[in-house]
Amino acid sequence: MQYRNLGKSGLKVSALSFGAWVTFGKQVGDPVARKLLHTAYDAGINFFDNAESYADGQAEVVMGAILKKSGWRRSSYLVSSKVFFGADGDRPNEEGLSRKHMAEACHDALRRLQVDYLDLYYCHRPDPAVQIEESCRAMHDLITQGKVLYWGTSEWSAAQIEAAHAVCDRLLLHHPVVEQPEYNLFHRSRVEKEYAPLYRSPGLGTTIWSPLASGLLTGKYNKGVPKGARLDTPGMEWLRDAILKKPGIERRLAAVPKLAAIAKGIGSSLPCLAVAWCLRNPNISTVILGASRVEQLQENLGALGVLEKLSPQVMRDVDALSGPLAD
Ligand code: NDP
Repeated sequence: MQYRNLGKSGLKVSALSFGAWVTFGKQVGDPVARKLLHTAYDAGINFFDNAESYADGQAEVVMGAILKKSGWRRSSYLVSSKVFFGADGDRPNEEGLSRKHMAEACHDALRRLQVDYLDLYYCHRPDPAVQIEESCRAMHDLITQGKVLYWGTSEWSAAQIEAAHAVCDRLLLHHPVVEQPEYNLFHRSRVEKEYAPLYRSPGLGTTIWSPLASGLLTGKYNKGVPKGARLDTPGMEWLRDAILKKPGIERRLAAVPKLAAIAKGIGSSLPCLAVAWCLRNPNISTVILGASRVEQLQENLGALGVLEKLSPQVMRDVDALSGPLAD
């Protein structure tokens, strides 16, 4: 495993990390979740990603039980939660970035994950209904209370991240250190262009999600939706439509076998090539992997070995195919 600094913070995060979205508490049973987390940890992964909204809080319950039983030193791993979408309640103040919900969601995450503090706590989306000062102050207070060590954002615009830093400068609050954006061969613009000025100053770290575009970049959706796959999961119809009914999907699907042929040419699988391509970007602190089966995770861990095979010519070939199709 390689370890990278999370932006300008002193925190070391494994270049590959592991997340619980869709799978824990929903798509896979607890024994599979346990094997996945143990496989990740044994491979040197030190960051496990979660959120209040994943399986309405159940993903944190499942992960917390595994962490508790594992016997792993608390200092040997990082665990996150995210606040915004809410868990099981939908009454006023049970979602969003108000001080009340942020504090209560943090307490709930600590209880479900059975830990004393969160290493990383994210504002899962911007909340236009709340003053940014209120959310920054709430994060700062959770840090000074010892309940959170570092805070960040997910899918905030560069302007919103800069506004949060300006507030933290003015009010002498703990600054956000990380953003969690989508990044993969078919989704690049925000990470590569919009955030570009933020990597030097204030020194943004990135924990990127959906490196395989929810499985599109494995080739599994080229002949329809396989039974049991993520886009076949009950409750994920919105994601199936968002991916498979998106304008340009035919051209993306047509590029997938060509990308797989490039992967084969360097002795890689397509998932490993797609993950390694993300890792090649020096502004990526960690690529969060998702998996519904241990074999998938084991395969994707091979991406580290593919990194050195991404010659300038291979990168040009990959970019010529996927770049024009990317958001
Ligand atoms: P991916 O894009 O890598 O999708 C993972 C899914 O792809 C797996 O669950 C599996 O789905 C399929 N898959 C993975 N590897 C293989 C393989 N080798 N062969 C075949 N199929 C494979 O990542 P995620 O979308 O899961 O994102 C990773 C993490 O990022 C999440 O768990 C979550 O922690 C975080 N995230 C954060 C978001 C945010 O808003 N901040 C949003 C989304 C994710 P299946 O087998 O079911 O088809």
